[in-house]
Amino acid sequence: MTPVVEAVDVTREYVLGAGRKAAAVTVRALRGVSFAVEPGEFVAIAGPSGSGKSTLLHLLGALDRPTAGSLRFSGRDVADLDDVELATLRNREIGFVFQQFQLLTRTSALANVALPLVYAGVRRGERRERAVAALEAVGLGSRLNHRPAQLSGGEQQRVAVARALVTRPRLLLADEPTGNLDTTTGAEIMRLLRDLNRDFGVALVVITHDTEVAALAPRRIRIRDGLLDDGAVAPPAPRALDDAGPARASAG
Ligand code: ADP
Repeated sequence: MTPVVEAVDVTREYVLGAGRKAAAVTVRALRGVSFAVEPGEFVAIAGPSGSGKSTLLHLLGALDRPTAGSLRFSGRDVADLDDVELATLRNREIGFVFQQFQLLTRTSALANVALPLVYAGVRRGERRERAVAALEAVGLGSRLNHRPAQLSGGEQQRVAVARALVTRPRLLLADEPTGNLDTTTGAEIMRLLRDLNRDFGVALVVITHDTEVAALAPRRIRIRDGLLDDGAVAPPAPRALDDAGPARASAG
């Protein structure tokens, strides 16, 4: 099977400009990273602050290009894509979920979720149908016309997940998706992401500094100082997702 995304010997260096007195400094944020995400896989990439997670996420999202090495999306090297092809890749094949939700504050949940379909050129009637279906899939069928301020943090993140999935991407990238939520709500969002990964077959990559969040993924990769450590370090025992729900917590 062709991987959804594959990194081959990827490095990313940032060159900080030389000042009048200082010489240029090169920061080696990624120092030779290779791994592949198969269709439908669920992978967590975990590491401490400064380890290169954001840099890697930008590359996996085709938002940035590597200094050396290659990134392939469904077998195509990003280096060979022109700007239009890159924009199409980002808009149709990759969905993003961020720590800060990144919703438009003045528009409804429905309009937020339909927005990527506007960019994709989908006609109005179909946009609405697909946005409603995506909101129903994340359990927000009764919140279509609520604006973000009228929703809880967990609900806002569900809207963001629906927006990421409405284009039916092959790859869902989640950057610290629970970072702005309390533990119980964070576990609900992780359970939702896991269910969507299982039910819709979208490959899921969760980037996190939280080893407990990472432990929920069947495959875990650690990143440290710009290098990957694929499965060599045992994570803490997985917290059982199905036992972490609020219903059971309050019942018990
Ligand atoms: P993480 O997301 O794990 O906190 P980052 O990918 O943001 O790590 O950063 C990895 C390293 O690269 C850090 O040393 C950071 O300071 C450096 N870095 C990240 N972005 C830039 C940038 N735009 N310019 C210079 N250095 C950067």
